[in-house]
Amino acid sequence: MDNRSSVAPSGLRLCSDEQERVFMTTYRITVVPGDGIGHEVMAEARKVLGAVENAFPGLSFACQEFPAGAKCCQETGTDLPEATLAACKAADAILFGAAGWPGLTLPDGTDIRPQIKLRKLLDLYAGVRPIKRYAGLRPVLAGDPAIDYVILRENTEGLFASEGGGARVGEHVAVDSLVITRPGTERIVRWAFRLAGRRPGARADGVRRVTCVDKANVFQSMAFFRRVFDEVARELPGIQAEHAHIDAMTLFMVTRPLRYDVLVTENLFGDILSDLGAGTVGGLGVAPSGDIGDTYGLFQPSHGTAPDIAGKRIANPIAQILSARMMLEWLGETKDDPQCAQAAQAIERAVEKTLADRTYHTADLGGSAKTAAVGDAVVKAVRRGD
Ligand code: ATP
Repeated sequence: MDNRSSVAPSGLRLCSDEQERVFMTTYRITVVPGDGIGHEVMAEARKVLGAVENAFPGLSFACQEFPAGAKCCQETGTDLPEATLAACKAADAILFGAAGWPGLTLPDGTDIRPQIKLRKLLDLYAGVRPIKRYAGLRPVLAGDPAIDYVILRENTEGLFASEGGGARVGEHVAVDSLVITRPGTERIVRWAFRLAGRRPGARADGVRRVTCVDKANVFQSMAFFRRVFDEVARELPGIQAEHAHIDAMTLFMVTRPLRYDVLVTENLFGDILSDLGAGTVGGLGVAPSGDIGDTYGLFQPSHGTAPDIAGKRIANPIAQILSARMMLEWLGETKDDPQCAQAAQAIERAVEKTLADRTYHTADLGGSAKTAAVGDAVVKAVRRGD
């Protein structure tokens, strides 16, 4: 029974049934499916949000879809229409699928990637990439360690600062610049320490830890990143601060992943490490992310548009569903809404339950489940309150 009624200002509505009367909060969600499997996995995440609305009578999501991406660029001449950008700014949160398509590129040969534009335009400086091992998945690393850490990628500068720019001199020279600024580094490092302070539980060795991943032994820019990290770390005692070089880090993520809690790093390093991290816990199909700033939050799977499987209805929707879960967690924190936090936990439990049953493993996880079957299983688990 739909028991919602009487819309009130500022997204609050009165909702009632025989037993109780509670205020309903409606969140405006701008949904951008993008290209390729973005559409397929987004459909499942929206089903799960629908199940959350039924399970939590005080929550509702006014989702509205907007175009962006390579196909949009082909059809309209822009990969990020003004109306989409305006809707992203007006929403309480943005749920993004994936964008880009082989063969549809900008004149310089680079991909069409509105998500990177959005990071800059909305100042989404914190790329939050949880790396979590879900029970039930085929072990990737020997000993099947219970991996659970977060890669925090600086999202607006670093080597990506050159994106859309850089320099090309004739046919023989091309240059991109790596940009590290003090304010950009300070804010991402502070974020890392805040995150380490509130993450549930500590490492196997009982220590809360932030690891600065850099290449300070070679590059001025990276030595500067590390120096600013150390300065901020000194102001924030109680959480262990340590360093690792990027090359060694790729080894440690495979050989001793249980040591890690929060890793903070430059933009391109974070991009690469997050795919490696995803590989250690089952692959891109189970790796969500959040691109978060001080005003806006955009949530999308770590994967791309997967052109090789797009349209086959076999894409794994878990990363998109977990991105919606991160969106609810963020709304819970920023809007101080415990119902959102509870809903995020409900999705997490439902995903755990779903992945524990191999019937619901898609091809990337070694199974044969279809995209929609996985989404339906998560919906059922949310409904049951598993
Ligand atoms: P981008 O640079 O846009 O992140 P990419 O080049 O890293 O994209 P993806 O599109 O992420 O590439 O695909 C990499 C591989 O992972 C492909 O083989 C793809 O099929 C697979 N893959 C990605 N996402 C999923 C998913 N949700 N389910 C199943 N397989 C996936």
